[in-house]
Amino acid sequence: MAASMLRVVRTNTASSRLVVHQGVSPRPPYTTTVGGAASRRQGSLAIARHGGQKQALTAPVITTRSPNPAQRLSSRVYAVATEDATDDSDYVKQISISQNDYPEPTHLGDVELPDPENARIKTAEYISSAVRHDQLPKDNKTEIAVIGRSNVGKSSLINSITNKNGLAMVSKTPGKTRTINHFLINDDWYLVDLPGYGFAKAGEKRRMEWFGFTKEYFLEREPLVMVLLLVDASIPPQQADLECLNWLADAEVPVSVIFTKMDKKKKKCPKNSQNILAFEREMNEIFEQMPPRIATSSASGLGKDVVVRYLARLRNLAKQTAPPPVPSYLE
Ligand code: GDP
Repeated sequence: MAASMLRVVRTNTASSRLVVHQGVSPRPPYTTTVGGAASRRQGSLAIARHGGQKQALTAPVITTRSPNPAQRLSSRVYAVATEDATDDSDYVKQISISQNDYPEPTHLGDVELPDPENARIKTAEYISSAVRHDQLPKDNKTEIAVIGRSNVGKSSLINSITNKNGLAMVSKTPGKTRTINHFLINDDWYLVDLPGYGFAKAGEKRRMEWFGFTKEYFLEREPLVMVLLLVDASIPPQQADLECLNWLADAEVPVSVIFTKMDKKKKKCPKNSQNILAFEREMNEIFEQMPPRIATSSASGLGKDVVVRYLARLRNLAKQTAPPPVPSYLE
């Protein structure tokens, strides 16, 4: 099996399920140690909540040792959830997520992505806004779409990676907030801005209405190679995001998750790292194999280059194989 740089290992024991996130693959030449003592020595003793009672974890803890000291640092165990965990408080409190934990995705499921040649975004141009399929561009260029709840930071991310402040203004213009907007990148491929969803006061009816035309795009748009689902890391998992993710997984639409607002700490909300871990736990329920994830902040520029290079890899994959393979995490 091809190794991805970021793997999620799940171990089932009688009393608890161990979810281990690592920055390195646990395959040789790395040695894997199992047991609480080993993790304690590495300063990552996990405390799980079980039935409201804090308790030291009794299930085995897996840690890895990488020959590379930098990787070793990022390979700490940082998440453990009990089998009957029902809410975020069931997650361990000692969590830290660094950029090292979200390296550039090099694999799409089992498929190795090509090198990110010509990654730099030199030109970005607004092309069109569509409300119907027949209004979409007809030149068959590769499309990578961005979607997320309103206010997730979609426009900020689009502006940031294209180095063009104001490019995504179009998606804020009255009348264009619910259109599918195409931006031509380097005269070569499209970055596609999809309508936001999960309006705070919108009822079920409005949500389904939104899906009406976006759904058709997902299901029938041949040049579409990837949907980047943006998830706000400064707040706990949102039902609307999970519904969207579930829908995309069921429809076998290739999806990657981009966590936004990594710099932001909201009062009364858990830390970003805890929000992310809680979201990843939900993802674990949906996917056998985790889709690529990237942590970003448009405010600090964190993850910007990682996203740009990942987009280049995806575009290069689409050039190599048309149609692109279905990622193994959707099988
Ligand atoms: P959209 O509705 O998804 O297009 O979201 P916007 O890009 O307009 O961002 C919504 C709000 O979040 C704005 O006030 C942004 O300034 C803010 N925002 C976006 N990205 C970030 C970020 O990375 N960090 C912080 N702290 N705020 C952000």
